[in-house]
Amino acid sequence: MPASGTTHQLHPLTGQFHEASREALYRSSIEPRVRTETSLTLSVATLIFAMFAISDYFYTGLTLEFTLLTTMRCLVVTSCLALAFVIGRRGSYNRHAWLHALPLWILATGIILIVPLRPDTLSTQVPAVVAATIAFYLLIPNLLPVVAVASLYLSAGFLAATMMAADASPVVVMRTTLLLIMTNGVGFFSLLRLEKLQRKQFALLQEERIQNNQLTEEITHRQSLETQLRRVAEQDALTGLDSRGHFMTCAEALLRRSRVDKTPFCLFMIDVDHFKAINDTWGHGQGDRVLTAIAAACRQSLRPQDVIGRFGGEEFIVALPGIHLNDARMVAERLTQQVAGLTVIEDMPDQRLSVTIGVAGVLDEAADLAALIQWADQALYAGKRGGRNRVVVSHEGR
Ligand code: GH3
Ligand code: MG
Ligand code: MG
Repeated sequence: MPASGTTHQLHPLTGQFHEASREALYRSSIEPRVRTETSLTLSVATLIFAMFAISDYFYTGLTLEFTLLTTMRCLVVTSCLALAFVIGRRGSYNRHAWLHALPLWILATGIILIVPLRPDTLSTQVPAVVAATIAFYLLIPNLLPVVAVASLYLSAGFLAATMMAADASPVVVMRTTLLLIMTNGVGFFSLLRLEKLQRKQFALLQEERIQNNQLTEEITHRQSLETQLRRVAEQDALTGLDSRGHFMTCAEALLRRSRVDKTPFCLFMIDVDHFKAINDTWGHGQGDRVLTAIAAACRQSLRPQDVIGRFGGEEFIVALPGIHLNDARMVAERLTQQVAGLTVIEDMPDQRLSVTIGVAGVLDEAADLAALIQWADQALYAGKRGGRNRVVVSHEGR
């Protein structure tokens, strides 16, 4: 957890991230939830406030105070419901904190105004203020500084109204003051703890996401490395043919399959004739071009199911499953003709290009790949001795 020391730093009094960008990110992450919850709880709180009009009627009867109280309640309810609607639609307390503060101030003003309009019922209004304060802190989602200021306004306004309009004794004022200090304290520290916990959880989640992303990137990187490594191991870099090792693995599998299916299996050992002379005359670059062109010719004249590998420097090897020796010889002859006609020699006037091919095959025999390679190799060298540019078929194994 190397980053947690810096990223988790929270303000001790607001519970917010020190880092402004992280705070903004956190706020926007909870925005949809805050919108819905604020809109809902604000509407419920406002409706409860409206329902107290019934008690107004019982306490005051149809008097001027009742009319004033009802008018005031109507104004509070209408404006708060309108604000609840607006907040529900597009209330971002990251950019418009005032929009979220406004309903609290309106509700607080409404609660304060009840004191001069219904001064006789002060004892029932105190618990209402306590409940409203707790609701401000814990039920209506908002930022701690916004809630704290609105709650202090409610407490101070209520106490001022108590002293001025309700003619309360100093003991009652003192008791109410202490009660409101306690309520604000409980609300403040509860919300502070909540704010901190939620942000710590958010920071941890962010770190986990970053680590997951890094892990995914690492996995992708490793997979691509693995693919590259496999390609390097399985493919000859110059010609793109199978590497010797990979050829052996594939050819072994094909041979095993042929044995099980009781189908024929042939092998070519191809060697470029006088290749050293090509290198010596035209340079290694041209020699490489010749090898690439011969590899392409092999690919072109052989079937897709045939496996072609680069056995050594200028030697190629081919596994041909499901083909009889006679047909294999014809395929090899076609290949020697194709090599002889390669256009790569345009750059090398008077250079003749040819290959010698040793062919070996098995049918129903228990010969292994090593034996087949040996027979094809012997046939190849017989071809070299016989004058090159030819196909020689081994009669071993038949
Ligand atoms: P032969 O007809 O008897 O096969 O004669 P040769 O000259 O083809 O055979 P030799 O074994 O004497 O020479 C093979 C040459 O192939 C020697 C080596 O420098 C060259 N060679 C091996 N690998 C490469 C390669 O990747 N590129 C190039 N340009 N030359 C290579
Ligand atoms: Mg050779
Ligand atoms: Mg050679």
